[in-house]
Amino acid sequence: MKGQLFHIQRFSLDDGDGIRTIIFFKGCNQRCVWCHNPESLNREPELSRVDSMCTRCGRCAQVCPQKAVYFAEGSFHTDLKKCVHCGKCLEQCPESALKIEGFEMEAEEVIRRILKDHIYYEESGGGVTFSGGEPTLQGEFLLELLKRCREEGVSTAIETNGNTPAELLSKLSPLLDTVLIDLKHADPVKHRAFTGADNRRTIEAIRYYAAHNRTEVRIPVIPTFNDTPEELQELLNLLADLGAEQVVLLPYHTYGVSKYKNLDRPYQLAAAEKLEVSDVAALLEKTEIPAGLMVEVHEK
Ligand code: SF4
Ligand code: SF4
Repeated sequence: MKGQLFHIQRFSLDDGDGIRTIIFFKGCNQRCVWCHNPESLNREPELSRVDSMCTRCGRCAQVCPQKAVYFAEGSFHTDLKKCVHCGKCLEQCPESALKIEGFEMEAEEVIRRILKDHIYYEESGGGVTFSGGEPTLQGEFLLELLKRCREEGVSTAIETNGNTPAELLSKLSPLLDTVLIDLKHADPVKHRAFTGADNRRTIEAIRYYAAHNRTEVRIPVIPTFNDTPEELQELLNLLADLGAEQVVLLPYHTYGVSKYKNLDRPYQLAAAEKLEVSDVAALLEKTEIPAGLMVEVHEK
């Protein structure tokens, strides 16, 4: 069985305990306006160009048989519908500024890559984290990988937006040691306005995982979206009602902004300034943390 990925990161110290391999799935069912991995959103592979490396020589446009890459008024553009990912432009770029984001991989090959670092997982208490994109969108592929990890004794974690059908949750849950799940807003209308989907399935996913798995809920704190004490309070109250115990607040950052230019896409939150850990800690101080909830602020 094959899946669509866009990156495999070894020796990560984020997204779970110990030393981890992070498997990034390609494709997402939400469109959060602050997303720092825009290359993860579409399931299909797509051309990206590092703007700071490009000298505007125009060779890519000359060799593209599909006319999928072109320059207009000094700016680089791609037409994703026309690009067939043949790689001809990559071969011709003298600056190595071009890349195709996304690739297909057999489940057994993914497992082979994961097992390369088995010894480090054992020594550090680490394992594998399936991230994205949204890994549950490729449910059968994910289940296959999780089952194989169980057979091989590799500890498993998932990083998910929780927008997952209930029947898949119950299949995933017994195969997961840790669940890292986002909740972005308590109000379904505002959640939809900034992410493209309401929060109902995510709320039910948190309820389910909190009852069955070791679960950490993450709240990205985003200017103009959920950065008032009232909005944060509502989120914390809701999470306490859902049975969550561990909550991490992640201050908004701008690390992914340049990737939008590389992919020839607009960044909708361009006017927002990054938040410091101290900003979010000050915001948290204005709330009352419900009993049973442990809330921390981390830098991502
Ligand atoms: S990958 Fe092929 S089709 Fe796509 S832009 Fe490059 S040359 Fe054109
Ligand atoms: S070939 Fe490379 S350096 Fe030249 S315009 Fe295309 S991306 Fe830029």
